[in-house]
Amino acid sequence: MNIVIFGPPGAGKGTQSKFIVNKFNLYQLSTGDLLRNEIKNKTKLGSEISSIINSGELVSDEIVGDLIEKFVSNSNYKNQIIFDGYPRTLIQAKNLDDLLKKYKQKIDIVLKLSVSLETVKKRILERQTQEKRADDSEAIAIKRYKTYENSSEPVIDYYKQSNLVKVVNGEAAISEINSEISGIIDAMKG
Ligand code: AMP
Repeated sequence: MNIVIFGPPGAGKGTQSKFIVNKFNLYQLSTGDLLRNEIKNKTKLGSEISSIINSGELVSDEIVGDLIEKFVSNSNYKNQIIFDGYPRTLIQAKNLDDLLKKYKQKIDIVLKLSVSLETVKKRILERQTQEKRADDSEAIAIKRYKTYENSSEPVIDYYKQSNLVKVVNGEAAISEINSEISGIIDAMKG
């Protein structure tokens, strides 16, 4: 089973992905983590993308497309991927469909964590004190939320056309969200 976990910054995608990975034996593919690794390891790509990430904008569809192809093409992960933070644009969603088709796979569920801007701001400021991410200031958090509304929200309408979307209340407690997601995945597995 391949899952997309979707939602604004601070929605809890990473937290919930880690829970799903452990419970259902999946692999987390977080494009944000992959990109931050490039910056941390001071690669050529890292130096190209750091200012984009730190300003709250999206890196190009080509760059993230290359990163995910490396993962999707690896047969060790076949049909066991949770896409965390990808796709974030309509073009990425279409590219992902084509890529999965190429490797004889598909998306089974899109989990949408819905949270308000107020909650996003609160959570990101909390995370700032722990993870010290350069893009977690309040101003950049607001920018990232706007980027989400403008570029990423249309992706949900795209997946709704194929009836793949399950909306989860991302404002609930972490454990409640865990159980709701487990229920959805269990039902899907049948
Ligand atoms: P995240 O850790 O998912 O919040 O991502 C952090 C930042 O990495 C985003 O604000 C973007 O700048 C960049 N990023 C992560 N995933 C993508 C993606 N699928 N497309 C474009 N940019 C991305």
